[in-house]
Amino acid sequence: MRLAIGVCMLMGLVAGAVSGAYAQQPAHHWAIVVHGGAGVIEKSALTPDGDKAYRAGLDRVIHAGAAVLDKGGSAMDAVEAALYVFEDDPLFNAGKGAVFTREGKNEMDASIMDGSNLKAGAVAGVTRPRHPISAARAVMEKSPHVMIAGPGADAFAESAGLEMEPPSYFFTESRWQSLVKQLKREGKPIPPRPAGVPPEGATVPVASFDESPDMHRYGTTGVVALDKQGNIAAGTSTGGMQAKMPGRIGDSPIIGAGTYASNQSCAVSGTGTGEYFIRLGVAREVCNLVFYKGMKLQDAVDHVIHKELEDLHGDGGVIAITPDGQLAWSFNTPGMFRARLVEGGQVQMGIYRDEP
Ligand code: ASP
Repeated sequence: MRLAIGVCMLMGLVAGAVSGAYAQQPAHHWAIVVHGGAGVIEKSALTPDGDKAYRAGLDRVIHAGAAVLDKGGSAMDAVEAALYVFEDDPLFNAGKGAVFTREGKNEMDASIMDGSNLKAGAVAGVTRPRHPISAARAVMEKSPHVMIAGPGADAFAESAGLEMEPPSYFFTESRWQSLVKQLKREGKPIPPRPAGVPPEGATVPVASFDESPDMHRYGTTGVVALDKQGNIAAGTSTGGMQAKMPGRIGDSPIIGAGTYASNQSCAVSGTGTGEYFIRLGVAREVCNLVFYKGMKLQDAVDHVIHKELEDLHGDGGVIAITPDGQLAWSFNTPGMFRARLVEGGQVQMGIYRDEP
Protein backbone atom coordinates (compact mmCIF):
# COMPACT_ATOMS: atom_id res chain seq x y z
CA MET A 1 0.00 0.00 0.00
CA ARG A 2 2.69 2.41 1.09
CA LEU A 3 4.69 1.49 -1.97
CA ALA A 4 1.66 2.17 -4.18
CA ILE A 5 1.19 5.61 -2.64
CA GLY A 6 4.88 6.33 -3.08
CA VAL A 7 4.77 5.33 -6.74
CA CYS A 8 1.66 7.46 -7.31
CA MET A 9 3.31 10.45 -5.64
CA LEU A 10 6.40 9.99 -7.78
CA MET A 11 4.28 9.77 -10.91
CA GLY A 12 2.44 12.86 -9.81
CA LEU A 13 5.68 14.73 -9.34
CA VAL A 14 6.94 13.70 -12.75
CA ALA A 15 3.61 14.56 -14.38
CA GLY A 16 3.62 17.84 -12.53
CA ALA A 17 7.09 18.68 -13.68
CA VAL A 18 6.15 17.93 -17.28
CA SER A 19 2.69 19.45 -17.42
CA GLY A 20 3.30 22.39 -15.10
CA ALA A 21 0.52 21.24 -12.76
CA TYR A 22 2.73 22.18 -9.81
CA ALA A 23 2.55 25.80 -10.80
CA GLN A 24 -0.75 25.75 -8.92
CA GLN A 25 -0.82 27.25 -5.43
CA PRO A 26 -0.16 24.51 -2.89
CA ALA A 27 -2.88 24.15 -0.25
CA HIS A 28 -1.95 26.14 2.86
CA HIS A 29 -2.58 25.36 6.46
CA TRP A 30 -4.96 28.03 7.70
CA ALA A 31 -4.08 30.05 10.77
CA ILE A 32 -5.59 32.85 12.83
CA VAL A 33 -4.42 35.22 15.56
CA VAL A 34 -6.74 37.46 17.60
CA HIS A 35 -6.29 40.18 20.22
CA GLY A 36 -8.76 41.74 22.60
CA GLY A 37 -6.61 44.72 23.50
CA ALA A 38 -3.41 45.50 25.33
CA GLY A 39 -3.03 47.49 28.51
CA VAL A 40 -2.52 47.42 32.21
CA ILE A 41 -4.03 43.98 32.59
CA GLU A 42 -2.50 42.47 35.68
CA LYS A 43 -3.48 39.28 37.42
CA SER A 44 -4.48 41.31 40.46
CA ALA A 45 -6.92 43.33 38.34
CA LEU A 46 -8.90 40.30 37.21
CA THR A 47 -10.95 38.13 39.50
CA PRO A 48 -10.68 34.38 38.74
CA ASP A 49 -14.16 34.64 37.20
CA GLY A 50 -13.08 37.62 35.16
CA ASP A 51 -10.03 35.78 33.92
CA LYS A 52 -12.22 32.84 32.93
CA ALA A 53 -14.77 35.04 31.19
CA TYR A 54 -12.14 36.77 29.06
CA ARG A 55 -10.57 33.45 28.09
CA ALA A 56 -13.96 32.04 27.18
CA GLY A 57 -14.59 35.15 25.07
CA LEU A 58 -11.27 34.76 23.25
CA ASP A 59 -12.06 31.11 22.66
CA ARG A 60 -15.42 31.92 21.07
CA VAL A 61 -13.80 34.53 18.86
CA ILE A 62 -10.98 32.35 17.61
CA HIS A 63 -13.31 29.44 16.89
CA ALA A 64 -15.69 31.67 14.96
CA GLY A 65 -12.82 32.63 12.66
CA ALA A 66 -11.37 29.12 12.56
CA ALA A 67 -14.72 27.62 11.51
CA VAL A 68 -14.72 29.83 8.42
CA LEU A 69 -11.12 28.98 7.53
CA ASP A 70 -11.59 25.28 8.10
CA LYS A 71 -14.43 25.19 5.59
CA GLY A 72 -12.13 26.78 3.03
CA GLY A 73 -13.55 30.29 3.57
CA SER A 74 -11.49 33.39 2.87
CA ALA A 75 -9.26 35.19 5.35
CA MET A 76 -11.50 38.25 4.92
CA ASP A 77 -14.59 36.27 5.92
CA ALA A 78 -12.76 34.77 8.89
CA VAL A 79 -11.59 38.18 10.08
CA GLU A 80 -15.11 39.58 9.84
CA ALA A 81 -16.70 36.55 11.52
CA ALA A 82 -14.27 36.64 14.44
CA LEU A 83 -14.64 40.39 14.93
CA TYR A 84 -18.41 39.97 14.91
CA VAL A 85 -18.09 37.89 18.05
CA PHE A 86 -15.79 40.44 19.70
CA GLU A 87 -18.26 43.21 18.84
CA ASP A 88 -21.15 41.32 20.42
CA ASP A 89 -19.23 40.57 23.61
CA PRO A 90 -19.61 43.37 26.19
CA LEU A 91 -16.29 42.42 27.79
CA PHE A 92 -14.32 43.83 24.88
CA ASN A 93 -14.01 47.42 23.77
CA ALA A 94 -15.74 47.11 20.38
CA GLY A 95 -19.39 47.20 19.37
CA LYS A 96 -21.46 46.51 22.51
CA GLY A 97 -19.13 47.34 25.38
CA ALA A 98 -17.27 50.11 23.58
CA VAL A 99 -15.73 52.75 25.85
CA PHE A 100 -17.25 56.23 26.12
CA THR A 101 -16.03 59.60 24.97
CA ARG A 102 -15.70 62.22 27.70
CA GLU A 103 -19.18 63.39 26.66
CA GLY A 104 -20.61 59.94 27.37
CA LYS A 105 -21.05 58.71 23.80
CA ASN A 106 -19.84 55.57 22.02
CA GLU A 107 -17.94 56.53 18.87
CA MET A 108 -16.52 53.44 17.19
CA ASP A 109 -13.77 52.91 14.63
CA ALA A 110 -13.05 49.86 12.46
CA SER A 111 -11.09 48.82 9.40
CA ILE A 112 -10.41 45.74 7.31
CA MET A 113 -7.84 44.97 4.62
CA ASP A 114 -7.52 42.19 2.07
CA GLY A 115 -3.88 41.21 1.56
CA SER A 116 -4.60 39.54 -1.78
CA ASN A 117 -5.51 42.78 -3.56
CA LEU A 118 -4.73 45.60 -1.10
CA LYS A 119 -8.38 46.59 -0.98
CA ALA A 120 -9.39 48.19 2.29
CA GLY A 121 -12.32 49.81 4.02
CA ALA A 122 -12.77 51.77 7.23
CA VAL A 123 -15.29 53.70 9.30
CA ALA A 124 -14.56 56.20 12.04
CA GLY A 125 -16.75 57.64 14.77
CA VAL A 126 -19.79 55.49 13.97
CA THR A 127 -22.54 55.37 16.57
CA ARG A 128 -25.13 52.94 15.23
CA PRO A 129 -23.92 49.95 13.18
CA ARG A 130 -24.10 46.89 15.41
CA HIS A 131 -21.00 45.57 13.66
CA PRO A 132 -18.64 48.38 12.72
CA ILE A 133 -16.34 45.82 11.04
CA SER A 134 -19.08 45.04 8.54
CA ALA A 135 -19.56 48.75 7.94
CA ALA A 136 -15.83 48.95 7.18
CA ARG A 137 -16.12 46.04 4.78
CA ALA A 138 -19.14 47.66 3.11
CA VAL A 139 -17.08 50.81 2.53
CA MET A 140 -14.51 48.63 0.78
CA GLU A 141 -16.97 46.66 -1.28
CA LYS A 142 -19.85 49.03 -1.91
CA SER A 143 -18.34 52.51 -2.07
CA PRO A 144 -15.56 54.08 -4.11
CA HIS A 145 -13.82 55.13 -0.86
CA VAL A 146 -11.51 53.66 1.75
CA MET A 147 -12.73 55.55 4.82
CA ILE A 148 -15.99 57.23 5.78
CA ALA A 149 -16.45 59.01 9.12
CA GLY A 150 -19.18 60.26 11.44
CA PRO A 151 -22.85 60.66 10.49
CA GLY A 152 -22.02 59.93 6.83
CA ALA A 153 -20.62 56.56 7.85
CA ASP A 154 -23.69 55.75 9.97
CA ALA A 155 -25.95 56.67 7.06
CA PHE A 156 -23.84 54.66 4.61
CA ALA A 157 -23.96 51.58 6.84
CA GLU A 158 -27.72 51.87 7.05
CA SER A 159 -28.08 52.27 3.29
CA ALA A 160 -25.87 49.20 2.82
CA GLY A 161 -28.51 47.22 4.71
CA LEU A 162 -26.43 46.55 7.83
CA GLU A 163 -27.95 45.90 11.23
CA MET A 164 -28.34 49.20 13.06
CA GLU A 165 -28.94 49.86 16.76
CA PRO A 166 -29.89 52.88 18.85
CA PRO A 167 -26.84 54.38 20.62
CA SER A 168 -28.15 53.03 23.95
CA TYR A 169 -27.53 49.46 22.70
CA PHE A 170 -23.77 49.95 23.05
CA PHE A 171 -24.02 51.08 26.68
CA THR A 172 -22.65 48.85 29.43
CA GLU A 173 -22.70 49.73 33.10
CA SER A 174 -19.10 48.67 33.64
CA ARG A 175 -17.77 50.99 30.92
CA TRP A 176 -19.91 53.80 32.24
CA GLN A 177 -18.63 53.37 35.80
CA SER A 178 -15.13 53.20 34.44
CA LEU A 179 -15.61 56.50 32.60
CA VAL A 180 -17.10 58.17 35.66
CA LYS A 181 -14.14 56.99 37.77
CA GLN A 182 -11.63 58.31 35.27
CA LEU A 183 -13.32 61.69 34.86
CA LYS A 184 -13.59 62.10 38.64
CA ARG A 185 -9.91 61.26 39.02
CA GLU A 186 -9.06 63.85 36.40
CA GLY A 187 -11.42 66.44 37.91
CA LYS A 188 -13.45 66.65 34.70
CA PRO A 189 -17.24 67.10 34.47
CA ILE A 190 -19.36 63.94 34.45
CA PRO A 191 -21.79 63.84 31.51
CA PRO A 192 -25.42 62.81 32.04
CA ARG A 193 -26.22 59.12 31.60
CA PRO A 194 -27.12 58.48 27.96
CA ALA A 195 -30.79 58.46 26.97
CA GLY A 196 -32.57 55.13 26.95
CA VAL A 197 -30.18 53.25 29.24
CA PRO A 198 -31.20 51.55 32.52
CA PRO A 199 -31.18 53.86 35.54
CA GLU A 200 -28.13 53.77 37.77
CA GLY A 201 -28.14 50.74 40.07
CA ALA A 202 -30.60 48.81 37.89
CA THR A 203 -27.91 46.58 36.40
CA VAL A 204 -24.79 45.18 37.99
CA PRO A 205 -21.55 45.95 36.18
CA VAL A 206 -19.99 42.79 34.66
CA ALA A 207 -17.88 41.38 37.52
CA SER A 208 -15.13 43.59 38.95
CA PHE A 209 -12.79 43.59 36.01
CA ASP A 210 -11.57 47.13 36.15
CA GLU A 211 -9.97 47.67 39.49
CA SER A 212 -6.92 48.98 37.70
CA PRO A 213 -7.51 52.59 36.63
CA ASP A 214 -6.01 51.87 33.20
CA MET A 215 -7.61 48.52 32.65
CA HIS A 216 -10.16 49.68 30.14
CA ARG A 217 -8.27 52.41 28.44
CA TYR A 218 -7.21 49.88 25.86
CA GLY A 219 -9.18 46.90 24.70
CA THR A 220 -9.44 47.26 20.99
CA THR A 221 -10.11 44.02 19.16
CA GLY A 222 -8.25 42.71 16.14
CA VAL A 223 -7.88 39.63 13.98
CA VAL A 224 -5.39 38.48 11.34
CA ALA A 225 -5.92 35.32 9.31
CA LEU A 226 -4.35 33.11 6.65
CA ASP A 227 -6.69 31.00 4.54
CA LYS A 228 -6.18 27.75 2.66
CA GLN A 229 -5.69 29.68 -0.57
CA GLY A 230 -2.68 31.40 0.98
CA ASN A 231 -4.31 34.82 1.30
CA ILE A 232 -4.05 36.94 4.42
CA ALA A 233 -6.29 39.68 5.84
CA ALA A 234 -6.44 41.94 8.89
CA GLY A 235 -9.22 43.75 10.72
CA THR A 236 -9.51 45.94 13.79
CA SER A 237 -12.58 47.23 15.64
CA THR A 238 -12.71 49.48 18.69
CA GLY A 239 -14.49 52.02 20.82
CA GLY A 240 -11.15 53.83 20.95
CA MET A 241 -9.65 55.34 24.09
CA GLN A 242 -11.86 55.88 27.11
CA ALA A 243 -12.69 59.55 27.79
CA LYS A 244 -11.38 60.59 24.37
CA MET A 245 -12.44 63.93 22.97
CA PRO A 246 -15.57 63.78 20.84
CA GLY A 247 -14.55 63.27 17.21
CA ARG A 248 -11.13 61.85 18.11
CA ILE A 249 -10.05 59.16 15.68
CA GLY A 250 -7.45 56.58 16.69
CA ASP A 251 -5.19 54.29 14.71
CA SER A 252 -7.67 51.43 14.39
CA PRO A 253 -9.48 52.69 11.28
CA ILE A 254 -6.31 54.03 9.70
CA ILE A 255 -4.87 51.71 7.08
CA GLY A 256 -1.15 51.43 7.73
CA ALA A 257 -1.42 52.47 11.40
CA GLY A 258 -3.76 50.07 13.20
CA THR A 259 -4.40 47.66 10.33
CA TYR A 260 -2.50 46.50 7.27
CA ALA A 261 -2.41 43.42 5.04
CA SER A 262 -0.44 42.51 1.96
CA ASN A 263 0.23 39.02 0.62
CA GLN A 264 3.71 40.28 -0.19
CA SER A 265 4.61 40.72 3.45
CA CYS A 266 2.17 40.32 6.33
CA ALA A 267 -1.12 41.22 7.98
CA VAL A 268 -1.14 43.22 11.22
CA SER A 269 -3.66 44.52 13.75
CA GLY A 270 -2.63 46.80 16.59
CA THR A 271 -3.86 47.96 19.96
CA GLY A 272 -2.52 50.67 22.22
CA THR A 273 -2.21 54.43 22.37
CA GLY A 274 -3.46 55.14 18.89
CA GLU A 275 -1.71 58.48 18.56
CA TYR A 276 1.71 56.76 18.61
CA PHE A 277 0.56 54.02 16.26
CA ILE A 278 -0.54 56.67 13.77
CA ARG A 279 2.71 58.60 14.03
CA LEU A 280 4.76 55.45 13.46
CA GLY A 281 2.47 53.85 10.91
CA VAL A 282 2.92 50.74 13.03
CA ALA A 283 1.10 48.12 10.95
CA ARG A 284 2.74 49.13 7.69
CA GLU A 285 6.09 49.54 9.42
CA VAL A 286 6.01 45.88 10.51
CA CYS A 287 5.20 44.80 6.95
CA ASN A 288 7.93 47.03 5.52
CA LEU A 289 10.51 45.40 7.77
CA VAL A 290 9.38 42.00 6.54
CA PHE A 291 9.28 43.05 2.89
CA TYR A 292 12.29 45.31 2.51
CA LYS A 293 14.57 43.96 5.21
CA GLY A 294 13.54 40.32 4.95
CA MET A 295 13.04 40.20 8.72
CA LYS A 296 11.32 37.25 10.37
CA LEU A 297 7.87 38.28 11.50
CA GLN A 298 8.60 37.94 15.22
CA ASP A 299 11.74 40.07 14.89
CA ALA A 300 9.80 42.71 12.97
CA VAL A 301 6.97 43.02 15.51
CA ASP A 302 9.43 43.04 18.42
CA HIS A 303 11.49 45.77 16.77
CA VAL A 304 8.49 48.00 16.14
CA ILE A 305 6.96 47.52 19.60
CA HIS A 306 10.04 47.31 21.81
CA LYS A 307 12.26 49.74 19.93
CA GLU A 308 10.31 52.18 17.78
CA LEU A 309 7.16 52.47 19.92
CA GLU A 310 9.09 52.52 23.18
CA ASP A 311 11.48 55.19 21.89
CA LEU A 312 8.40 57.39 21.45
CA HIS A 313 7.11 56.35 24.90
CA GLY A 314 4.06 54.76 23.32
CA ASP A 315 2.50 51.56 24.53
CA GLY A 316 0.48 48.72 23.12
CA GLY A 317 0.89 45.63 21.02
CA VAL A 318 0.29 43.93 17.68
CA ILE A 319 -0.64 40.57 16.26
CA ALA A 320 0.63 39.53 12.84
CA ILE A 321 0.70 36.72 10.28
CA THR A 322 2.48 36.00 6.98
CA PRO A 323 1.30 34.05 3.95
CA ASP A 324 3.98 31.43 4.70
CA GLY A 325 2.40 30.77 8.08
CA GLN A 326 4.53 32.76 10.54
CA LEU A 327 2.44 33.94 13.49
CA ALA A 328 3.56 36.59 15.94
CA TRP A 329 2.51 38.91 18.71
CA SER A 330 4.38 41.48 20.71
CA PHE A 331 3.37 44.03 23.36
CA ASN A 332 5.07 46.29 25.87
CA THR A 333 2.15 46.57 28.28
CA PRO A 334 1.65 44.31 31.32
CA GLY A 335 -0.89 42.29 29.35
CA MET A 336 -2.68 41.70 26.07
CA PHE A 337 -5.73 39.51 25.52
CA ARG A 338 -4.55 37.19 22.76
CA ALA A 339 -4.99 33.78 21.15
CA ARG A 340 -3.77 31.93 18.11
CA LEU A 341 -4.57 28.72 16.30
CA VAL A 342 -3.06 26.86 13.37
CA GLU A 343 -4.96 24.20 11.44
CA GLY A 344 -4.64 20.89 13.26
CA GLY A 345 -3.17 22.53 16.37
CA GLN A 346 -4.41 23.68 19.76
CA VAL A 347 -5.44 27.17 20.78
CA GLN A 348 -2.61 29.04 22.45
CA MET A 349 -4.00 31.79 24.65
CA GLY A 350 -2.64 34.41 27.00
CA ILE A 351 -3.57 37.51 28.95
CA TYR A 352 -0.58 38.42 31.12
CA ARG A 353 2.99 39.10 30.11
CA ASP A 354 4.43 35.97 31.69
CA GLU A 355 2.38 33.60 29.54
CA PRO A 356 4.03 32.16 26.41
N1 ASP B 1 -5.69 51.85 19.56
C1 ASP B 1 -6.98 52.23 20.03
C2 ASP B 1 -7.16 53.70 19.82
O1 ASP B 1 -6.24 54.44 20.01
C3 ASP B 1 -7.19 51.95 21.46
C4 ASP B 1 -6.88 50.56 21.90
O2 ASP B 1 -6.13 49.85 21.27
O3 ASP B 1 -7.37 50.16 22.93
O4 ASP B 1 -8.25 54.10 19.52
